[in-house]
Amino acid sequence: MSKPGLSAAIQDYLKEIYKIQAAGDRATTTAIARRMGVTPSSATSMVKKLAVLGLAEHAPYRGIELSDAGTKIALEVIRHHRLLEQYLAETLGLGIDAVHAEADRLEHVLSEELEARIDEQLGYPTHDPHGDPIPDAGLNVDRSQLRSLDALQPGEEATVRRVPDGDAELLRYLAELTLVPGRRVLMRKSEPFGGPLTVAVDGSEHAISRELAEQIGVA
Ligand SMILES: [Zn+2]
Repeated sequence: MSKPGLSAAIQDYLKEIYKIQAAGDRATTTAIARRMGVTPSSATSMVKKLAVLGLAEHAPYRGIELSDAGTKIALEVIRHHRLLEQYLAETLGLGIDAVHAEADRLEHVLSEELEARIDEQLGYPTHDPHGDPIPDAGLNVDRSQLRSLDALQPGEEATVRRVPDGDAELLRYLAELTLVPGRRVLMRKSEPFGGPLTVAVDGSEHAISRELAEQIGVA
């Protein structure tokens, strides 16, 4: 599927609006502006443009919602992004903290032929290195929800399935703790009243904030 005439900026907005909705949040112009790192007035004018193009609409009390056409483009861009991240990590050995920025640039120029070749070469991966689901060629995407790490009870063990994408500094920190997808994690201590958590990974204990643990998906 090609996206003639749609600028990289438009594709990025559709992608971010999709991700806000997928997280179960309301896509307000403020939320979109924050995700895009722009002023609310730039976000507002872009939302108007998306509405004119029939890609999104501003629903009263529900925020901005993507149309079917807008959703399709968002999923296609997300598929490019996550496939590229998996390719860069698996084939070129780039770190979990380095793949996002590269994929953000390449996602807009990846041809459909190369997309199909990468998918085939990787054996049709279902998740990227951060554990985010990769939409398949038919743009179907796994929407199952994970538990968050902070929900584990003391003594309970689980496998890390997802870490947040995009913040390279945070990802380097998680990689240092080996708190990355595929690793087993054991909840040692969970302080009451929103206090910190102590987790064990690979035999080492680490104290982490509850706020960080909420961003890590386990199963
Ligand atoms: Zn990414």
